Amino acid sequence: QLDEKEAAMRKLHNDVVDLRGQIRVAVRVRPMLKTEEEVSSASIIEYPSTNAISFNQGAKPSGTFTFEKVFTPVFSQQSVFANIEDFILSALHGYNVGLIAFGQTGSGKTHTMRGGEAEDEGIIPRTASYLFNESKKLEATGWKFEFSLSFMEIYNNEAFDLLNNHSIVKLRLINHTVSLDGLTEHPLTKQSDMAGLLNVADRNRKTAATKCNEYSSRSHAIYMWKIKAQQRSTGISTSSVLKLVDLAGSERAKESGVVGQQFKEMTNINQSLSVLQKCINMQKAKSTHVPYRDTKLTQVLMDCLGRGNSKTMVVVNINPCNEQAVESKRSIEFAAKMRETHIGSAVQQRDL
Ligand code: ADP
Ligand code: MG
Repeated sequence: QLDEKEAAMRKLHNDVVDLRGQIRVAVRVRPMLKTEEEVSSASIIEYPSTNAISFNQGAKPSGTFTFEKVFTPVFSQQSVFANIEDFILSALHGYNVGLIAFGQTGSGKTHTMRGGEAEDEGIIPRTASYLFNESKKLEATGWKFEFSLSFMEIYNNEAFDLLNNHSIVKLRLINHTVSLDGLTEHPLTKQSDMAGLLNVADRNRKTAATKCNEYSSRSHAIYMWKIKAQQRSTGISTSSVLKLVDLAGSERAKESGVVGQQFKEMTNINQSLSVLQKCINMQKAKSTHVPYRDTKLTQVLMDCLGRGNSKTMVVVNINPCNEQAVESKRSIEFAAKMRETHIGSAVQQRDL
C-alpha cells in the first residue's frame, strides 16, 4: 500500500521536475562587497521583474533576460538552497543530477557551492544534511540508502583526488561511461562526517594568483555523491550520482594579463568551459554527436549533463560591479544561450 502511494508521489515529483526541463539555468547576483562600495563602484544589474535581469549602463539600457530563477543579492544561502532542494531530491529518486556553478573569478561560485560556516554554509554542506533528512523519511517507507563521496579537481586538464593527497586520477572511457581510476570513495554514514571531508578537500584545492583576484581558483572542483537505494521488501535497488561542481573562473585570459604557466591554465579552462557549453546546448537540441569526450571536465560530467535519466542545473554567478560589466555580460550571454534552446521558454535577447 505504502509502496504504491510512495511510488505515485515520486512519479509526481519527477513529472513536475521534468516539466521544467532536464537542463535549467539560474542566475545568482552577489551583493557588492564593502571594499567595492568604498571605491564607489555602482551595481549595473537591475531586476525588472521576478526571475528577470537587465543591465543598466546609463544611457544604454540592455534587454531583459529571464531565467528559471534569478537569485538577487538579498537571497541568503538558506533561501537559495530552499529553491533548489527539490532538484537535488531527484538524486534520491534515482536520477543522475548535476549542479554546476559558473562565473568569473570573484563572482561567488565558491560562496554558493561551499560557502562559509553556520548560516553561511553553501549548497555542498547543506546537501549532506538535506539528503540525510530526506533519506530518513524514505527509510520509513521501506527504503534503505547508502552514500559514498568522492571529491576531485581538474587542473590543466588533469584530474586529482581531493580526498587522497591530490593523487592523480586516470580517466578511462568505456563505451559511454567514464571510469575514474584511483579516485577514493568515502562512505558517508552520518551527516557530521561531511565537515571533515570538506576540510581535507579545501586544503587540497589549488589556487593561483591572477590580476582579477589575489588568489583565485584555477581548477574545477567536483563533489560527487554515489547514492544506492534499496527497497527492503523486494530487494529492488537503484543507483544514481549527484555531482556538485565549482567551476574555474570563466574570465578571458587577455583581460587578466597572465603569461606562461597561468596562460596555459587559462587556455585549458577556456577550452573546457566552451566544450561544456557546447555539450549542454547540443544535448538540449537533442544532437546525436555531443562532444563529451573532448575534455576531462565533460567526460566526468557526462552522466549528469541531460542525457537519459539525468538533470542539470547551471547557476551562473554574477559580480554586480560596474568595472566587471564585460565579464558579467559574457556570463549572461552564456546563460541566455543555454536558455534559448529551452522548449517553452520565452527569452528576450537584445543588444548584448
Ligand atoms: P569565486 O569562487 O567565484 O571566485 P567567491 O565565492 O570566492 O567567488 O566570492 C568572492 C567574494 O565575494 C568572497 O569574498 C565571498 O565571500 C563574497 N561573496 C560571494 N557571494 C556572496 C554573497 N551571496 N553574499 C555575501 N558575500 C558573497
Ligand atoms: Mg572560487
